[in-house]
Amino acid sequence: MTTKKTSMRTHTCGDLTAKDIGGTVTLCGWMDVKRNHGGVVFMNLRDLYGITQIVVRPESPVFKPTDELKSEYALKITGKVVPRPPESLNTKIATGEIEVEASDLEILNTSQPLPFDLGEHAGVLEETRLKHRYLDLRRRKMAHNLVLRSRVAGIARAYLSSLDFNEIETPLLTRSTPEGARDFVVPSRANPGKFYALPQSPQVFKQVLMASGLDRYFQLARNFRDEELRSDRQPEHTQIDIEMSFVTEADIAAVVEGMMSRIFSSIGDTLDAPFPEMEYSDAMSRYGSDKPDLRYGLEIADVSEIFRDSGFKVFSGAIKSGGHVSALTMSGAGISRSLIDRLEETLKKQNAKGLPWIRWSDPAKPESPIVKFFTPEEMEALRKQLDIKPGQLTFFGVGAGYAPFIHMGILRTEFISDKKLAECAGLEKPAKKWAFLWVRHFPLLEKDAQTGRWTFTHNPFTAPLPEETAKLDTDPGNVRSCQYDLVLNGVELGSGSARNHTRAMQEKIFGLMGYSKEEIAEKFGMLVNALDFGAPPHAGIGIGFDRLVGIICGTDSIRDVIAFPKTASGACPLSESPAPLDEAQLKELHLRITP
Ligand code: ASP
Repeated sequence: MTTKKTSMRTHTCGDLTAKDIGGTVTLCGWMDVKRNHGGVVFMNLRDLYGITQIVVRPESPVFKPTDELKSEYALKITGKVVPRPPESLNTKIATGEIEVEASDLEILNTSQPLPFDLGEHAGVLEETRLKHRYLDLRRRKMAHNLVLRSRVAGIARAYLSSLDFNEIETPLLTRSTPEGARDFVVPSRANPGKFYALPQSPQVFKQVLMASGLDRYFQLARNFRDEELRSDRQPEHTQIDIEMSFVTEADIAAVVEGMMSRIFSSIGDTLDAPFPEMEYSDAMSRYGSDKPDLRYGLEIADVSEIFRDSGFKVFSGAIKSGGHVSALTMSGAGISRSLIDRLEETLKKQNAKGLPWIRWSDPAKPESPIVKFFTPEEMEALRKQLDIKPGQLTFFGVGAGYAPFIHMGILRTEFISDKKLAECAGLEKPAKKWAFLWVRHFPLLEKDAQTGRWTFTHNPFTAPLPEETAKLDTDPGNVRSCQYDLVLNGVELGSGSARNHTRAMQEKIFGLMGYSKEEIAEKFGMLVNALDFGAPPHAGIGIGFDRLVGIICGTDSIRDVIAFPKTASGACPLSESPAPLDEAQLKELHLRITP
């Protein structure tokens, strides 16, 4: 018996199988396709759950009315379940063994001609799809993305509830939380000249909940950030937001690993938990990224020691002034000179000076414009450190700080993420489907490029590593933090930290960022006051829910897993927002638009 039986239907369009043969059923759905075969009308009736073939024979009382039916008419059809003749069995769909012989038909609603074909692969402009999202979401793949999203949310909720987490809502009308993005603001009618900000995340409120003794909090929270949009960004996104008291980073990791294991087991995949961990500094120097895709090896090497005194001044000069030479080696047969030139252009846009390379078709006779500068000893040491095999190609990065590693990291990501490039570099299909990773101990502070002041790398509430707090006074730029990121297949899926739970430490860190006592009280009063009353040690994380669902659904665009997303310019073609306000509304809000 179907659980989706209603007063209008006995079954859904995905329910009926051979065991229903002989029964009389009523189905509701949309007319998908209609065709006339030798005087008999066949229709596909479709709903969220599947497709059922309807047959209308000339002797049926509803044969004539089928003339009127057009695509996407909403129909109610009653009839008898009969076996399909052997030649029209369809093993690809659940209802493929039967058809329904219609004896009654009701048109519940008609439909205008469609602005686009609802076929799975219709190449329709996204703008058009969003404008008619009600039709776009009738496409099977799109509807299934949303169904999956709902299931994943359900699993997360059930799992966290089973661990006694409390789901607590925090305000949407609030004041700005400084998390690095611009705020969306809402004018207050009752308070002329004052504005609410939509939260960039519930960060401060969840910390206050910990100070309140609520112990374990979660929320599927909406975050608002007015940033430049990309395919994996929206002005509003959802995160599985978590915070716990009397814990260390390990407790958060265990909860998240348990939750991910449940979520992925629901799609039939088993995860290896605990997830591997990597220091931020290792991620940067071994993979040139703080979110390395560990489905692949392709490690970057630091070959600086070999070239410290090299006659090739590009290398030795950089090394002598404290920089590094990095190397990335891969199979080179498919990598043409013009591809190398293209990659060099990509890197130059990232401030690389060039892209030196060596081709090792025969390792004894390396080919490259730069080999003439190297001694046989240097070449031998290089071959040995990189464990060179015939046919490989090595790229080099040169520069200060992490730059040479980041440049090789960009190449690594290009080769991994572009199917054609992966083929050129002979990358095998990855051995694992899901590579989760914790990246830990990000630097606490970094210099703001514009103001030259210290600023936070993730959010200002992250605690320094306890054993490094002494360095806050002497060498703040080298203090590591209790910040961790969760990475999946090279995507930053979430980030979190152990927080400053004493007012003194939080004020000290704000102080390093250049805030005076008065500014701290004005901007962060709510948090520091709460910390002042016995706030417990606490830690948490926010996991990007749209990204997670996008990865599981296998789409590159999070817009495909959001029911009503915005376009790249932040507009919603369906609701036509943002939209102007009329004069009366503006006046009421004490606003005037200046041209
Ligand atoms: N508030 C952080 C974010 O939105 C997450 C966290 O640290 O818990 O990225």
